[in-house]
Amino acid sequence: MSFISTIDAPCALCGGSSSIKTIATKDFSYGTCENEFFYSECECGVYRLVNQPLDEDMGRIYPENYSAYRPTRFGPMAQIRKWNFQTKIKDAIGNRKIDSWLDFGCGAGELALVVKSLGVEKVFGCDFSEMFFEELRSNGVECFLSNELSRLDDKSLDVVSMLQVIEHLRDPRREVDAIKSKLKIGGVFIIETPSPSGLDFKIGRNKTWGGWHAPRHFYIFSQIKLIQILEECGFRVISTKYIPSPYMWIETLKARLIVDGRKRIKSKRFSIGNIYLVAVVTLLDYALIALGKPSSNQQIVAVRE
Ligand SMILES: [Zn+2]
Repeated sequence: MSFISTIDAPCALCGGSSSIKTIATKDFSYGTCENEFFYSECECGVYRLVNQPLDEDMGRIYPENYSAYRPTRFGPMAQIRKWNFQTKIKDAIGNRKIDSWLDFGCGAGELALVVKSLGVEKVFGCDFSEMFFEELRSNGVECFLSNELSRLDDKSLDVVSMLQVIEHLRDPRREVDAIKSKLKIGGVFIIETPSPSGLDFKIGRNKTWGGWHAPRHFYIFSQIKLIQILEECGFRVISTKYIPSPYMWIETLKARLIVDGRKRIKSKRFSIGNIYLVAVVTLLDYALIALGKPSSNQQIVAVRE
């Protein structure tokens, strides 16, 4: 392991360049480099990664074993994930008739394949990695790179989903604007992204919170901030909710053990593949949400006006 080059980037949302570093963390999830990464609380209300990696290092900070590129296609976890996606889709779109759907940042295409299986005619997936394009195309999903959104006609989509993606973008508002132009009037936009608000955030805020996910997460948005961005871009928010964040819980616990120097702990035990641990932290989050507490994961559904 060694260091990567970084660039101190101003806030893409407000232009602010304050580099008061309130959080110092590392790549505890994948250990792709030794750098320390800093987040600043920008005056516009987001947490911003101050020292951002360069495009040329994307292949390194998103290694081949990156979770979004390791699909769960079989076994009980695959079934649970499939049900989870089906429920999300039904909750978000209600009784709308859907003919076209884009999953922005489709990764291995788990959501896109569920959408296809529900009978949606035109399903698109875009990502900055082409790793799964061939497999997805053979299953009827049209794939293209994330910077090729112009291939779609304006006002052509019924739904765009963007799950755990907006926090990875260098310029989130630009992408939200581009997505808006591709949605039909009244088209639905579903976003899920980490939220700096749950118990795991409070435990790990200064260093070990799994939601930092440095250096891959560039921006962390509060619910209020995300609503503001969507409204500024011409969306009307129709629902907001906190949802369980098993991944962030597990990564928070794992990072804590690494920082405490307990390296002998088997990292496999602290992974999203550990169905028992996922169940425990998911139930904990459901209980807290039922008590009216926020979690560290949020979903917002908006429609294009
Ligand atoms: Zn800002």
